[in-house]
Formats: sequence, C-alpha cells, structure tokens
Amino acid sequence: MLITSVEAIPLRAELSQPFRFGNIVRTRSQNVLVKITTDTGATGWGEACPVPQLTAETQASVTALVNGEVRQAFVGQDARARHALLAAVNRVHLGIHFTMAALDTALLDVVAQGHGMAVSDLLGGRVREQVEVHGSVGWDEDPQAVARTAQAYAEEFTWLKLYAGKGTLDADLRSIEAAREAVGAEHPFLLDINGLWTVTDVVRAGPRLREAGVQLIEQPVHPADPLGNATATRILLGEHGIDVAADESIRDPADVAAVARAGAASVINVGMSKMGGITPALAAAQVAAAHGLPVMVGGVVELGVANAAGLQLAAVLPALAAPSYLMGPLKYAEQVTSPVIAPQESRLRVPTGPGLGVTVDEDALGRLRLDAH
Ligand SMILES: [Mg+2]
Repeated sequence: MLITSVEAIPLRAELSQPFRFGNIVRTRSQNVLVKITTDTGATGWGEACPVPQLTAETQASVTALVNGEVRQAFVGQDARARHALLAAVNRVHLGIHFTMAALDTALLDVVAQGHGMAVSDLLGGRVREQVEVHGSVGWDEDPQAVARTAQAYAEEFTWLKLYAGKGTLDADLRSIEAAREAVGAEHPFLLDINGLWTVTDVVRAGPRLREAGVQLIEQPVHPADPLGNATATRILLGEHGIDVAADESIRDPADVAAVARAGAASVINVGMSKMGGITPALAAAQVAAAHGLPVMVGGVVELGVANAAGLQLAAVLPALAAPSYLMGPLKYAEQVTSPVIAPQESRLRVPTGPGLGVTVDEDALGRLRLDAH
C-alpha cells in the first residue's frame, strides 16, 4: 500500500457564533484537511485544528510542512508503516501536535479503508458503539446569558460543560449558580478553568462548586504548576468529591506519569488533536491505566474529520470517566463531512463504515478551501 500523494487543504472555517472559553474568543478556525492517497486507490483523510494557545502551529505552517517535507518523506512509502512514518516527522519537528494528529488520522484512515474496516477495528475493536457527549455552554460575563445557553443545551444533553477563570471569581461562580437554577438538579456540570485559577480561588470556590453540582473540573491551575494542581486536587476531590482532570498539562504520554507522580489530577484528558493523534492518545491512556487514573476524551472544537477520529478513539478506550467533548462540528457554520453528527439522548453513534466512517463532502470542500486548485 504505497503512498502516491499527500495534500494539505487549508479551509475557511467559521463558527456560527463566537465561542468563548479560557482567555479565548473564537470566531473562525484554522482547520487544514490532509488527504493521503495510495496505489491501491484508497484515500485517507486527517484534520489539523491548530489552536494558537496550545502550540505555535498555524494554518499556514501546517499546510507548508505537509505539502513540503511530509509529502517528500511519505510519497513512495508504505502507508501501513504508521509508527515509522510519524517518527520520521517527529524526529525533526517537535511540538507540532496538530499536524501530527492530521497525519496519524489520515494514515489510520487510509489503511483501514484499504482493509474495508473501521479505524476502531484496526485499533483492536470497539468496546462501545455509542459515546456520551456533553453540551458545551461556553463562557459569558453575564450570568443570565450563561443560564439561557445552559437551558437551551439542557434540552439535548444531560451533562453540561461550563467555563470559569476569565471573569472575577464571584461573577463566574454566580454564572454557574444561575445555570444550575435554570436547568434544575438533573444535569451534572463539568467546569473548565483552563488553568486560570490560583489555589486560593480553588479553596474559596470549593463549597459553592459542590453546592452547584459540579462533578468534574478541568485544569484548575496553570499546567506548569503541578504542586498547585496537586493541592487543588486534594481540596476538590478530598473535601468536595469533585474530580480534577488534567487537560493542558497532558500533551505527551510521559506527561501522564508526571501528573500521576505529583497527584496533580484524578482524571486524564486524552484529546486526540492536542496529543498528536489517536496513536499517542492511546499510549497516554495506557500510562494512565498503569497509574490507576481514569481517562476522558477531550477536543478543541474540530470539524467532522478530527471529530470522527475522536469517536473512533473513544470507541476503543476500555473505560471513560466522563462524557466526551466531541460535538465540535455543531459549532461551525458549515460542515465538511457527512453524515453530520446528531446526538440522541446525549449520545453519538460511532460510525460503522470503513476508515473514520465519514465522507468528505467534495462540494463543501470546494466552497471552503482557501487554496487555488
Ligand atoms: Mg479543557
């Protein structure tokens, strides 16, 4: 199965409305699709969704690297040699997680397509056909706006994800409390701080978070502060029964061991994009299991190719500690894959077709692609 072409396609991808979280307001996204074709006629797709706050990659850097060095290194090689191909890129380029995620996904997709099997089957088989997801409410300084959005999402999702850390502590807590009042008691909350709180904030917030039904907090303290996160975990889990997930502090499988040694979390977020693909995400999940830490599947609001990869990953993980962050495509103004994800009772069916189980819509691609072709 020899690779005959590698192509990066930058997209003009816009969100249907601004999405606020952490210190970020996102209105458009820098997605790049990667297409790998082989001499058997099989085609595989991957997606890079670079987030400037996580790596120095941009749409232009991903596109240039894939259409230049990667194409030169991959064409003529066997697509089945995924580990060797990825290692060749990683040896000379560090910290290009989003590019690597696209390459890992496209290689898995093309090989699975070639065998007529789903990526999850290539990875050893699924343990679940459906993945629970949560509604992502986002952040707003107006508690009533948060409450309204939470109420709308509560019609479709059981678990709701809220954000804090950007506003003052009291204002953010009032938003969470307003959301709780709006949705009633039946919707557990995830709360993402994106590393913006101090340990003092955690101490002060703890009782109100427990009262507001927050079940899990992502990255309470800056990822470069394992001691702070360890203290936060002792307080939140020990005193309030609230799990703490390491997100920004987990970028490589080795990070899981460091977080485990420091006691800096009780759950590990193994997002496919931020880790550089399904392959390192699975390795990270194994390190987590070896340390007795459960995992959850995160995301960075990707389009349909990366999201499908996230679903294939979630399908093969033995146990998931919380609902997955895999509704990214719904935040975009236009889709690039079919079928479009459609949560039912907070669950997404893992596609059963070959490869990722989604088809890239060539018409949509023609409208969205930024490069001349
Ligand atoms: Mg997070």
